[in-house]
Amino acid sequence: MSGVAGEDADLARRWRAAAADPEVDAAIRAMHARIEETVAQRRPLCLASGNCCRFEAFGHRLMVTGLEAAWTATRPETPSISLQQIDEARREGRCPHLDSREGRLCGIRGARPMPCRTFFCDRAATDWQRELHESCLGELKALHDRLGIPYRYLEWRDALALLVNSEVTSR
Ligand code: SF4
Repeated sequence: MSGVAGEDADLARRWRAAAADPEVDAAIRAMHARIEETVAQRRPLCLASGNCCRFEAFGHRLMVTGLEAAWTATRPETPSISLQQIDEARREGRCPHLDSREGRLCGIRGARPMPCRTFFCDRAATDWQRELHESCLGELKALHDRLGIPYRYLEWRDALALLVNSEVTSR
């Protein structure tokens, strides 16, 4: 294997391996717990409309680190998705994990990545959620540096496609 596909497969392999590392898992879970505490204190308005998961209609671009995408994708509660499902979600301008029956609920709530946990459309939450997001991103970067994990910041569906693609090409 060589070129971009080979590099992507290597990145995906390293992110998957890191996501299975208990130290990384504990750090990500601790970060999620801190987010929950902050959100519980701040109590932003969320009507669970699913609007922020319909990216194009909402004008929202969900960016994640490759490591977090791998962590989410490898949780036992996360259903595996295909490239076709990711393409369909792109065409429909939404997240592939948006529950297709309800159309407004997250299908992987317990495993959703940090940016989904720190984003609220409540305008009153704009300032603190930005600070929370930046501080979490800083934590994730520090985790990469400490453990020598390659860092990439990607559009959510691109990150999921990279992970799925690398699985397909390694078979
Ligand atoms: S992972 Fe869940 S919360 Fe995040 S965009 Fe997708 S459906 Fe929405």
